[in-house]
Amino acid sequence: MNSLKLFNSLGRCLQEFEPLEPGHIRLYTCGPTVYDRIHIGNLRTFVFEDLLRRTLRFFGYRVTQAMNLTDVEDKIIAAALEADVDIGTFTAPHVASFFDDLTTLRIERVEHYPRATEHVAEMIAMIERLLTAGYAYCADDCVFFRIGADEDYGRLSGIDLDQVRRGERVRSDEYDKEDARDFVLWKGAKEGEPAWPSPWGPGRPGWHIECSAMSQKYLGKTFDIHCGGVDNLFPHHENEIAQSESANCCPLARYWLHSEHLTVDGEKMSKSLGNCYTLGDLLDRGLSARSIRYLLASVHYRQQLDFTFDKLAAADRALKRIDDMRFRLAHEVEKEIDPGPLDRAAGRFENAFATALADDLNTAGALGAVFTFVHTVNGFIDQGLPPGGRTRVHAALDRADQVLAVLDTGDWAGAAESGGGLSDVEIDALVAARSEARATRDFAAADRIRDQLSEAGVVVEDAPGGSRWKRG
Ligand SMILES: [Zn+2]
Repeated sequence: MNSLKLFNSLGRCLQEFEPLEPGHIRLYTCGPTVYDRIHIGNLRTFVFEDLLRRTLRFFGYRVTQAMNLTDVEDKIIAAALEADVDIGTFTAPHVASFFDDLTTLRIERVEHYPRATEHVAEMIAMIERLLTAGYAYCADDCVFFRIGADEDYGRLSGIDLDQVRRGERVRSDEYDKEDARDFVLWKGAKEGEPAWPSPWGPGRPGWHIECSAMSQKYLGKTFDIHCGGVDNLFPHHENEIAQSESANCCPLARYWLHSEHLTVDGEKMSKSLGNCYTLGDLLDRGLSARSIRYLLASVHYRQQLDFTFDKLAAADRALKRIDDMRFRLAHEVEKEIDPGPLDRAAGRFENAFATALADDLNTAGALGAVFTFVHTVNGFIDQGLPPGGRTRVHAALDRADQVLAVLDTGDWAGAAESGGGLSDVEIDALVAARSEARATRDFAAADRIRDQLSEAGVVVEDAPGGSRWKRG
């Protein structure tokens, strides 16, 4: 097995990965705030986390993963009040659209999706432990974390706390905090807001405490990997560490992985620039979910990804090269020649692919290995395919696709649905009917069927062994 190396934000270096429990990895990923439909910046992070999960499984590990759903926070409360509905009614469609987007982009379901509103008791218990240990204090009707009591604070982000103190001073005026840097664990409810009973009066948990409480519940006090977008590194992840490690007196996570920002046409995404795309926006423009997943996977997670429509078109072309090779492969007749060279080429590909992934999830390198292999296989097809060659190539590609999940399975959303909604079986039947028409010299009927297939984006090629088809 390749030894897996990951870049640990904690200590900022590449480290050989060792799970706490042999063969089993416990992974926590900060999930969405279900306030509106997530945008492609969020999706970049979720695709990265999916690639990580699939890579861990590719290397033979069992994975237990939890991703929280933040279904109570200030914006949600304000919007629900405005719409005159309870927060559960307000968030339900956003929870549904989140799972739809995961499905559309072939992001695997994880083991646990805990919701903040269903874990308030666990959060209260952790806040009580922090109060008892002197890491928290009550002020007004809130509870705050006392950063000054945590000597380690800032070790993940390397943040200069003096700068935070200056920057936060103004904002802190609204609270009666001991120190401007302290952050809220529990917020007292204002009139009309949703609230849970607590030892400090009715209120709701702060955002940071939910990840600390829920990761502990589903993964234990110390687990292997904690992931998120780089924008969550400070203060969110720093605060999670402060809470969990002060309450539990042991490390929270051993490896911290962060994916970089996504920009659009070189600019930060923002509502005012109109470039804050959701997956729905892109599919409505006729773009394919498959190309979107490919583009998000094609840039290493620690590099900024600049999303452009040109790059999506390039992703389409790249995928077509794979499709064309698989099409040729499917229709090539195997010849009685030595299978050794093709088998060795497939082995080299498998090796290069795994080596790239083991190097801190180098997905760009892994895709590079795929295209080298595609080129090589095309060469073999030109020269003649040995017995078992088709099966060998498919097996190697299918194994790679357990991680990448970009191969054409005929049911991708968006532009890739070329085929006009026709299933493979329906296309096969039409192609057979056309061959039949040609055999009986009914060329008018044959042409009609050909036009019908062509309208559906299916190209038919007549070869000596019979007609074959592909989606255009
Ligand atoms: Zn979190």
